[in-house]
Amino acid sequence: MTELEFAQKVNDAGGTAYLVGGAVRDKFRGVTAHDRDYCVTGINEKKIAKAFPNIFNVGKSFPVFLLNIDGKHCEVALARTEKKVGSGYRGFSVKFDSSVTIEQDLFRRDTTINAMAIDILRDELIDPFGGREDVANKKIRAVSKHFMDDPVRALRAARQSAQFNFEITEETLTAMNLCAFELKDEPGERIFAELKNALKTDKPSIFFRSLERAGILEITFPEIANLRGKTQPVEFHPEGDAYEHTLQILDEVSKINPKPEIRFAALAHDFGKGKTPLEMLPHHYQHEMRGLDVLQEMAQRINLPADWKKIASFVISEHMRAAVMTRPGKIVDFLVRLHNSKISADDFNDIINLDNHGLPPFLANAEKILTEILKVSGRDAPPELQGEQIGNWIRKERIKALIKLKFLPDSKIEDEVFE
Ligand code: ATP
Ligand code: MG
Repeated sequence: MTELEFAQKVNDAGGTAYLVGGAVRDKFRGVTAHDRDYCVTGINEKKIAKAFPNIFNVGKSFPVFLLNIDGKHCEVALARTEKKVGSGYRGFSVKFDSSVTIEQDLFRRDTTINAMAIDILRDELIDPFGGREDVANKKIRAVSKHFMDDPVRALRAARQSAQFNFEITEETLTAMNLCAFELKDEPGERIFAELKNALKTDKPSIFFRSLERAGILEITFPEIANLRGKTQPVEFHPEGDAYEHTLQILDEVSKINPKPEIRFAALAHDFGKGKTPLEMLPHHYQHEMRGLDVLQEMAQRINLPADWKKIASFVISEHMRAAVMTRPGKIVDFLVRLHNSKISADDFNDIINLDNHGLPPFLANAEKILTEILKVSGRDAPPELQGEQIGNWIRKERIKALIKLKFLPDSKIEDEVFE
């Protein structure tokens, strides 16, 4: 069924079909939307089911159907209104009968650029809040004072600002600030979902800077807010404090690496600097250790997936020593740890290269070295060796294999204690 056939059928059943949300916004941005969502007015659930016999309701608290339109599974929702009756995102009373108008449905949406609809049969734009103009002027603007009824909208607005590189209006920043109280109780999954979306944008720092401007960075991501004002030695960090450094590394890594979990690890690499005792500043001795505690707290709060946590932990604990290691034994031990971790050498290097302004040869060639040293296995150990002796033999042979590859400065090789 084509989109037009769908709209015609809805019309025949006494209703009107609209294209809504991101697809309309993206049309005016001049980009192809990744999905097309629809909204229908003027008919109830029963009539929809009659008009489309194999339609399938996937909504929990209100009707949302999945329909195959133009070869894709698309969401078709009945127009609805929402009224705040309690706290949090569940505290809504929802109304969806055939009297709800498209304007009413658009009113419950988050930002003006997302609150437009196109009447498909008439090819007519419904834009009660000036969304089209806001797209043209690159503005993120709350639809109404009900913005703060659902606190996750504050995160959505910040994320949209990063996604489209649009500016959030002053009143909307104030509305975001008013979400602070309820944001404290927002479920971790919802915060994580928006963080993940933000990490997929071209310049994720805009997300955190927007939350900061709205005065809610402390509530949403205290581990990042804590980096503000944590000075660093200027000779290594002309960019400024740990907050500026972190956002810079995050954006730089995002330019070369699309994976959100790697971008997250870049965001987390200096978390420990937020906990440096003030008298130690501008130095941050042992911030790796403190960073792991910060990550642990955050992981619990926002339900961080286990893999994301493992990757970030590895980067936090290894990022300082990896770049300065010289002794062959330490390097072998490190490369084996890297191999057994959840992060690839390339992904790890994307972060270290930017943080350290370059890579030592053993890191730049980590994959090549690993291929060679992992050829050494316990099966080849002399038969008289047992237990721990076999482990020591493997390590020694791997060190020899590493040295043979000639990625290390000669002076350091003599330092190595073999026995
Ligand atoms: P994307 O291109 O990222 O999918 P989208 O605008 O389609 O963008 P969705 O998260 O798929 O974003 O949501 C679809 C529509 O539902 C949005 O355009 C917006 O109008 C509305 N919406 C989603 N979440 C909320 C919310 N928490 N509060 C108000 N409106 C929302
Ligand atoms: Mg969408």
